[in-house]
Amino acid sequence: MFKKVLIANRGEIALRVIRACRDLGLRSVAVHSTADADALHVRFADEKVCIGPPPSRQSYLNIPALISAAEVTGADAIHPGYGFLAENAEFAEVVQKCGLTWIGPQPHVMRTMGDKVSARQAMEAAGVPVVPGTPIIETDRQAEEAIERIGLPVIIKATGGGGGRGMKIVDEPRRLLTQLAAARSEAQAGFNNPAVYLERYIGRPRHIEVQVLGDGQSAIALGERECSIQRRHQKLIEEAPSVALDDARRVELLRAARKATAAIGYRTVGTLEFLLDENKQFFFIEMNTRIQVEHTVTEAVFGVDLVREQMRLAAGDPLHLPAEMRPRGHAIELRINAEDPVTFAPSPGTITALNLPGGIGIRVDTHIYAHYRVPPFYDSLLAKLIAHGDNRNVALARVRRALDEVVVEGIKTNCDLHRRVLSHPDFIGGRFDTHFLERL
Ligand code: ADP
Repeated sequence: MFKKVLIANRGEIALRVIRACRDLGLRSVAVHSTADADALHVRFADEKVCIGPPPSRQSYLNIPALISAAEVTGADAIHPGYGFLAENAEFAEVVQKCGLTWIGPQPHVMRTMGDKVSARQAMEAAGVPVVPGTPIIETDRQAEEAIERIGLPVIIKATGGGGGRGMKIVDEPRRLLTQLAAARSEAQAGFNNPAVYLERYIGRPRHIEVQVLGDGQSAIALGERECSIQRRHQKLIEEAPSVALDDARRVELLRAARKATAAIGYRTVGTLEFLLDENKQFFFIEMNTRIQVEHTVTEAVFGVDLVREQMRLAAGDPLHLPAEMRPRGHAIELRINAEDPVTFAPSPGTITALNLPGGIGIRVDTHIYAHYRVPPFYDSLLAKLIAHGDNRNVALARVRRALDEVVVEGIKTNCDLHRRVLSHPDFIGGRFDTHFLERL
């Protein structure tokens, strides 16, 4: 097995990986921009390398700087975390060509699954239901034919898209072509790829995703996560398991996910994302070929360290978890962000006072500390607050109790928004879809 892991990331996920390294007896190397010189991941890793100035493009996305950092420190593996270069197949290839272990999927799998259109095709071929849609739209005529076949409304998505950005809903035929043109230019600007396609727009879906692990030969599905509480198509609260699935539907969903993961020869941890429509039919939307922010709720209910599993799979170990594991109890995660509660604009600045919660059933994954300065350059996630209990009511009571103990002064956070969701009768009753926050 590799001995020293360079973590090509920052923030809470860098700390998460450093902790897994410690548990496995591996050495860790932190990289950081000049804006992150005082960050916790830098302090807690065994070694550190400054890789450039604050803008991500010159630091956390700077492939030559990352590879040089691995070379000078003698790291023999790279963990990409999530975001930044985690789904960049070219980076994975460079890492492997330099003789380092890439703690992620095979680059060709990243390429197929990183493109939403080819991912849809791969899943369809594996027998997984996908949202009715199209290949890449080349001409206006193709788009017009597509809406005749699929019906309105449709959603225009970028094949290279991510982060909930750039999607456009079309509900009138006369708006199709202008929206298509706008979507293409936004996709070009945002993802450096103008290719877009159409999907049926599902009105009131729930977002349910399946955690999968594969070793190239076999695969397992480690339960599902409910991620319907979103703002601007970005997740805010996640839980495991989902209250929307009965046993039969769950078995069907997990079986489809497991089969598909094995069919693509997948060899690491990953997530298949689905929408569940009002008739409780599920449809694949995309795959994330990396560890996700919300992996923690799965860890809570299954008692599995997913980052450790990811490292073992990268080292070539076969899957060793039993194929049919059952979740224990219920877990809920809140993403605590530095953002304006009304506009959702990021709120960087210095944290003047801080208290983080604790007690039975609570886990907090965070990189913040008192007097930490939240830099304006990166995403706004401050902390993940995860509560676990024997059932959903216990987890809910614990997450509310923990939220009440949170004190973050000096910057704005979304804690009040979380309070409103957690006390809403429909959230408590499990009656919600991806539009819940818009109606709140
Ligand atoms: P991204 O990669 O940008 O996160 P996804 O394909 O994962 O995009 O979709 C993000 C969210 O957008 C979903 O969780 C859902 O809320 C919404 N969405 C995506 N596709 C559809 C669809 N066909 N119908 C309705 N909502 C959708």
